[in-house]
Amino acid sequence: MKPFGLLLALFALPLCAHAEAADNRIIFPPSTSQGSMVIGKVPSGSIVHYDGRQLRVTAYGSVGFGVGRDEKGPLTIKVRRPDGEVIASEISVTPRDWPIERVNGVPPKTVNPPAKIAARIRREQAAVSAARERNDDRTDFTESFIRPIDGRISGRFGNQRIYNGKPGSAHSGMDIAAATGTPVKAPASGIVSFADADLYLTGGTIVIDHGFGFSSNFLHLSRLDVNVGDRVEQGQIIGAVGSTGRATGPHLHWGMNWFTVRIDPQLVLDAAR
Ligand SMILES: [Zn+2]
Repeated sequence: MKPFGLLLALFALPLCAHAEAADNRIIFPPSTSQGSMVIGKVPSGSIVHYDGRQLRVTAYGSVGFGVGRDEKGPLTIKVRRPDGEVIASEISVTPRDWPIERVNGVPPKTVNPPAKIAARIRREQAAVSAARERNDDRTDFTESFIRPIDGRISGRFGNQRIYNGKPGSAHSGMDIAAATGTPVKAPASGIVSFADADLYLTGGTIVIDHGFGFSSNFLHLSRLDVNVGDRVEQGQIIGAVGSTGRATGPHLHWGMNWFTVRIDPQLVLDAAR
């Protein structure tokens, strides 16, 4: 064998071995926080299950899911590789502190809704939940999310809320204080999956679907500039800040979901940096 041929042979061997190993890698973070969006990598063509769902896998092998506020972990992700081998990955979950937050001065009718309103609230919440079950094959959620408006953060995700002295559910998103009429930008691209100017508890409400089960919701809006089915690009104006529904004053509530699991928009912003 000529020296040049030998060199090629030596080169070819480790290169092939390396390529094979790279294709078969399964990469998830070893640990994550409550309320986070987790992105992982699996061999392209794998079948992936987490939390009773089969996850969509991109052509390049990316997968994503959300971790709930009260998730204790460890999380188990089952990957069936194209070669048939099933591998379970575990992720530990770092707990967070959830302070108690008293919110006084909200309209009493939104804290103790009249009995005749109960059916309306149930119907409205069911419609929003249905929008969150969407599982589109779009990867808008992989964009680097931006803040929908500037301003002081007046309420954090996960805080245990007490409305007018009555214990309510945990705060499901982040509140950003701003004047009524402030334009709200789409934090990432997507399709408008829900839009209603007048829900009882959340007022002017928009849901944007970012694909793979991820969605953003914008509540208490004074104005809606988009309709269900519209494609919106990151940074596009979708509506305006208001104080409609259960609110003490003008602010934007931005929530995020992975299907029904609520995740923390602040962690999604932090990961984008
Ligand atoms: Zn809020």
